[in-house]
Amino acid sequence: MRLGELEFYILNDGLFRLDGGAMFGVIPRPMWERVAPPDDRNRITLAMNSLLIRAAGKWLLVETGAGDKWDAKRRDIYAFEGRGLPQQLAERGVRPEQIDIVVNTHLHFDHCGGNTQMVSGKPAPAFPNARYIVQRGEFEHARRPTERDRASYFPENFEPIAASGQWELIDDEREIAPGVELLLAPGHTKEMMIVRLSGGGQSAVFLADLVPTTAHIPDPWIMGFDLYPLTTLENKKKWLPEIARQGWLALFGHDRVVPAARLDLQSAERGEKITAVPVALE
Ligand SMILES: [Zn+2]
Repeated sequence: MRLGELEFYILNDGLFRLDGGAMFGVIPRPMWERVAPPDDRNRITLAMNSLLIRAAGKWLLVETGAGDKWDAKRRDIYAFEGRGLPQQLAERGVRPEQIDIVVNTHLHFDHCGGNTQMVSGKPAPAFPNARYIVQRGEFEHARRPTERDRASYFPENFEPIAASGQWELIDDEREIAPGVELLLAPGHTKEMMIVRLSGGGQSAVFLADLVPTTAHIPDPWIMGFDLYPLTTLENKKKWLPEIARQGWLALFGHDRVVPAARLDLQSAERGEKITAVPVALE
């Protein structure tokens, strides 16, 4: 996909499963199971989508999926499957050493697990020449999570990057390459970021866990995992109608079927529900 000078690809780190109830918060199962049928352990299948971006001669990677540093118990719990991100990068002809910047929208394991990989029994940076960018507040929270969210944070995904001096911790919103903006959209976590790509008069917004799948487009469909669900609600009401009005592309971090869509403008203006119109990339 091309936006002016900027090129991007949607890759993924395969699929995994999470509890369907936790994924839809206060929405009753009879409603969500119609759009996301659960397995016999009440889990729904999600993708872990990443963006590979070519901008101003640099390679950028947004999100690194869950990676492969998993024990048998958690492999069973999360049911990881599919081709991993390293393989998909290789298929694009991009070697790990070529990645210049890695962005983690936040540090939950399904967004930064591929930051590191095991090298002679120890986790080490998977992208040796990259600077890794995350919000400072998210990094500090990852080091001291609460009882409620500590199952989402694994030090082996972010501490080796600290040890190698590759973190660039930021405290604000910024453009990290021409047409690549990191924007704050808190709710899921306090400092979660979304990413807006712009070029040639067009934009695409990677929504991370603000709106993880197209099923999460209606306002109250908010994950139970979110630490600040009312803030998520505010940010959804800010971003989704804006994306629809501007005719931008919406990119979904966990949708396995529709990673990219246009949002229906007429419906949005009438105050009806916003609907996703899938866009095929390439
Ligand atoms: Zn996630």
